Amino acid sequence: MTEAAKTLCPYCGVGCGLEVLPPALPGKAVNRDSQGHPVWQARGDRAHPSSQGMVCVKGATVTESLDKDRLKYPMMRDSLDQPFRQVTWEAAYDRIVQVLQTVRQTQGPEAICMYGSGQFQSEDYYTAQKLLKGCLGTNNFDANSRLCMSSAVAGYMHSLGSDGPPCCYADLELTDCAFLIGTNTAECHPIVFNRFRKYHKKNKRKVKLIVVDPRRTETAKDADLHLAIRPGTDITLLNGMAHILLDRGQIEPLFIDECTTGFADYAEVVSHYPPEQVAKVCGISVKDLKTAAQYWGESERVLSLWSMGINQSAEGTAKVRTIINLHLMTGTIGRPGSGPFSLTGQPNAMGGREVGGLSHILPGYRLVKNPQHRQEVEQAWQLPSGSIKPEPGLAAWDMMLGLEYGQVGFLWVAATNPAVSMPDIERTKAALRQSPFTVYQDAYFPTETAEFAHVLLPAAQWSEKPGTMTNSERVVTYCAAFRPAPGEAKADWEIFAEVGRRLGFEQQFAFGSAAEVYDEFAQLTQGRVCDMSGISHQRLRLEGPIQWPCPAIETAATAADKYDKRLYTDLIFATPDGRARFAAVHAQGLAEPPSADYPFVLTNGRLYGHWHTQSRTGRIEKIVKMHPAPFLEVNPRDAQKLEIQSGDWVEVRSQRGQAKLKVLVTQSIRRGTVFMPMHWGFLWAEDAECNALTHPESCPISLQPELKACAVQILPLRGEQPEANEILSETELNTLRKPLKSSILSGATTVR
Ligand code: SF4
Repeated sequence: MTEAAKTLCPYCGVGCGLEVLPPALPGKAVNRDSQGHPVWQARGDRAHPSSQGMVCVKGATVTESLDKDRLKYPMMRDSLDQPFRQVTWEAAYDRIVQVLQTVRQTQGPEAICMYGSGQFQSEDYYTAQKLLKGCLGTNNFDANSRLCMSSAVAGYMHSLGSDGPPCCYADLELTDCAFLIGTNTAECHPIVFNRFRKYHKKNKRKVKLIVVDPRRTETAKDADLHLAIRPGTDITLLNGMAHILLDRGQIEPLFIDECTTGFADYAEVVSHYPPEQVAKVCGISVKDLKTAAQYWGESERVLSLWSMGINQSAEGTAKVRTIINLHLMTGTIGRPGSGPFSLTGQPNAMGGREVGGLSHILPGYRLVKNPQHRQEVEQAWQLPSGSIKPEPGLAAWDMMLGLEYGQVGFLWVAATNPAVSMPDIERTKAALRQSPFTVYQDAYFPTETAEFAHVLLPAAQWSEKPGTMTNSERVVTYCAAFRPAPGEAKADWEIFAEVGRRLGFEQQFAFGSAAEVYDEFAQLTQGRVCDMSGISHQRLRLEGPIQWPCPAIETAATAADKYDKRLYTDLIFATPDGRARFAAVHAQGLAEPPSADYPFVLTNGRLYGHWHTQSRTGRIEKIVKMHPAPFLEVNPRDAQKLEIQSGDWVEVRSQRGQAKLKVLVTQSIRRGTVFMPMHWGFLWAEDAECNALTHPESCPISLQPELKACAVQILPLRGEQPEANEILSETELNTLRKPLKSSILSGATTVR
């Protein structure tokens, strides 16, 4: 192979197009990593509509992890205290099918669970949830997207009638005001931010950037207005802004009258949020609050962006709906440069939503609870009526509780690492330890979750299997297989399909290729908001990425506008009456507010280079050098009170656990709040697990846990200091951060 293979970056939901070349090209030296191993070369794909040739450090270095610590063969053991032994696929399948059948007969299908991932390609996701929901008769299929963006899903559904972000990335370059709340876009979705940053720089006078975040992040540094609110006061702020907009008459009465319901109740709620009170609760000045409302109110086109800072909350759905309220009252939705735009965390979290990859949904944005939706899917799957259960299955955290209570007899985890990413990690680990039978399917070994498995299945990953992924702006990209899978690794969907056939569902899993899986799924989207019935592997390979909606029979208009499509441009929403719904909600605040014993709020998040639990990035030298160790950001006044300084060690304790961290004293964090990165599980650092501290209190609607905030105390460690990697000083960190802007690489750059 000498031509570049086109694919998609497998990290975040921005979904940047990549071109990948083999290590050895005719007439050129072999591309090698620092240890001399040949590595594939990745560069941005200029033809990709979403990223236009740009990639960040993660996309540029992703190929370095492809051959490191791969799980190559199926392994088994009878109990967790035994070592794994290599087995054949035949033996692994036999064991899995035998346990599945036993559990189904003795405990019932509801004792079977699968926990999947936004790292799946859509074909993997679709086959997995079909196996559980259609064939095994349980809706207990959930994914790590539950921890990431299920509040956005619920918010869109309740306010607009359907899931589906209505905006596209072109809106970043068309807006008058970008309102970023609960998102460190510059570091977590760098290419999205870079598109906006260039436009903002060119139009400084006209275009405003408001950033709402308790930290002065890289994103906040570019803001015209940074509101460093107290954690958990988002709804107060948003209702307060609505109060001012209403007072000033900066609303769109015609849009409200003709396109929405529930405004009177909403107006009543926001009347209780006068500026002085709101500013006090949020910990910001009245002037800044009024400026935020002014920027929004005076802008014809307003685009809001958010991610985990909003979604990971015990009132996550209400927060999302409160953001959407502001768009509805100002009519800033359904037109260029405007709208509520949730950024998805994982590369195919959007695809997961489309295929039914959560325990309450079915393919094509259908709902488990809806009898007609169940019937449509049962018919498509050629299953008897009633095969799909009418109740939503267990969500991610409920699966852990199910293990704890002894109600789960079979757990299948694939392409995710819950032994690091779940809240209250010691409780999670204890629950996983109690699992009678756990299958763990992943590309890498070791990972933290492998320690809790009875069977390990080697998965082919991105680059080794063809498939599709959908990014945050609804663009579907074909990901080519350009290298063989190591050892006996198989595509996730092939493993699920084989188990399905062995359970007697030959007809339902008679797929000969990933393209056939995709075709079946795409048919199920026909006539739905997320209509992708006009998309196929063949078309994607020939034409490149396609944005949905893309019906099988495209109208002249949709065919002409291949990208930059928006939803609800006719201002008819997906609700039964076509009207969007205002949510009249009061702020609840944090599920675990600070107290006398635990006086600080711990918040957490990603660093620019690392990805989630480091299964890939922990194996990439450049990224490990960039972010060698976890740390705790502390405000100088808090540090003074605690008598600590940068470089000192502290123990951070919550009601559930503790972590030992080096301190970074910085003005970037507000008083009373501390920050630590979320990437370090027990494989990568001792006693530094972020989720040792977090709690599982969840939004009652989206069931997304409040991973973003918990109450902690900080105890300086004055005696013997733990050994750990050197941590960088703030000056050193800033030196590294400076190239952040320049480390957005253009398509011409090949990273070595
Ligand atoms: S922003 Fe970076 S991590 Fe995200 S898709 Fe693009 S290259 Fe990958």
